[in-house]
Amino acid sequence: MPIATTDPRTGEVLRTFEELTPEEVEAAIGRASAAAADYRLTSYDDRAAWLRRAAELLDERTDELAELVTLEMGKTRASAAGEIGKCASALRYYADHGAEHLADEPIDAETVGASRAYGRYLPIGVVLAVMPWNFPWWQAMRFAAPALMAGNVGLLKHASNVPQTALAIEQLFVDAGFPDHVFTTLLVGSSAVESVITDSRVAAATLTGSEGAGVAVGRVAGESLKKVVLELGGSDPFVVMPSADLEEAARVATTSRTQNCGQSCIAAKRFIVHADVYDEWLGLFLKAMSGLTVGDPMEEGTDVGPLATEQGREDVVALVDAAVADGATLELGGETPDRPGWWYPPTVLTGVTEDMELFHEEAFGPVATVFKVGSIEEAVTLANATRFGLGANAWTTDAAEQEIFVRDLEAGQTFINSMTASHPAMPFGGVKASGHGRELSAAGIREFTNLKTVWIA
Ligand code: NDP
Repeated sequence: MPIATTDPRTGEVLRTFEELTPEEVEAAIGRASAAAADYRLTSYDDRAAWLRRAAELLDERTDELAELVTLEMGKTRASAAGEIGKCASALRYYADHGAEHLADEPIDAETVGASRAYGRYLPIGVVLAVMPWNFPWWQAMRFAAPALMAGNVGLLKHASNVPQTALAIEQLFVDAGFPDHVFTTLLVGSSAVESVITDSRVAAATLTGSEGAGVAVGRVAGESLKKVVLELGGSDPFVVMPSADLEEAARVATTSRTQNCGQSCIAAKRFIVHADVYDEWLGLFLKAMSGLTVGDPMEEGTDVGPLATEQGREDVVALVDAAVADGATLELGGETPDRPGWWYPPTVLTGVTEDMELFHEEAFGPVATVFKVGSIEEAVTLANATRFGLGANAWTTDAAEQEIFVRDLEAGQTFINSMTASHPAMPFGGVKASGHGRELSAAGIREFTNLKTVWIA
């Protein structure tokens, strides 16, 4: 993939960038590694002050940065601005709570025969983050804010279609006053990632993206015996039981499936509805989905813009067309508009069966599949009939049913009577093919630390 800004509304290439040479990458790793030696000695107070300054700068720059995000990957300006605001909140969260998350862990000295013993969280050094374009600020900040607070140094290999945003992220940390080379954007393609991970000066890697990219990065990290966190795809279920507030469930389902033009790992993708309320809920859902405004994401009032990339649109078209050819029913959408750019309409299918690829794959676009089930057992079985396990949503006011969903849905997070969302204070990550490790909260900042046991005679 060339490193370029391409307007998803038109397919026009607006700006291209030269990829760094291997020598330039090597030199950048050297500078990051040298910076890490000093940065690990800075205080939590200093790091918190730089994070807070970065948050202020984000607040000041929201409009221009949001416009750039919309230009590079097509989400609505309102949602881009919301994403940048959320990044400011993550920076402030780790400025406020990072030191307490990394406070020494008490160990009972008498039990271990010491005069004093404790666990101390120490930074591990240079960490590579390989990040996707779908939330180009938020995905990167989920890594950067805790990593920098913990005393690590960051290298960012961002997706090739968001280079200007990638450079703006580096500039933010420079302008916030972080020491030189503590956070560096590497404008490189995916083929350069292996050499960065295997470099002995790089301690660990994190990747958010597709399974294929996760396997590639996980393999190289494993072979180099380096820690890796993987946040991969999802095919989240959204279960609606008879006691649910059906209108609210239909409204939230629509938002969950179509926000970011459906390109969210934690979007609800499979809607599993109890037979007693199936017809009524499907009617409400179709009404809400068909009421969305598809249009220019720069304009206020637009709900759904174009998909981010040509390949992404091709993947969605292929999944839907194959399912329809094999007998699935199109309840809404499903036709690719005849216009430049990567447009695809909100789409709803029923009658999707296990022999169809759409049943198994992550549909990374505004495409919902709706299933009817007769019992909670059937709902849980269908919800878990996926290799993914990122988020899961269940709608019921019955306390016993809620407990069953919390216990039995195979997912890194279960939201009851709402849609899955990330928040700086909540652990975020998946099970099964959705990856491993956690981001955000105390769990996230501890992932890239050395929990050193200290034992003093
Ligand atoms: P990718 O997973 O290919 O891209 C994510 C990041 O990984 C990018 O920085 C990319 O670089 C990099 N990358 C890709 N392949 C490799 C590799 N072999 N080794 C190292 N780094 C790699 O996402 P796509 O944009 O291609 O999207 C494809 C599918 O991935 C989507 O349809 C969706 O299912 C899933 N996806 C899931 C996301 C999530 O949030 N869970 C986010 C994005 C995608 P480069 O851009 O240079 O190729």
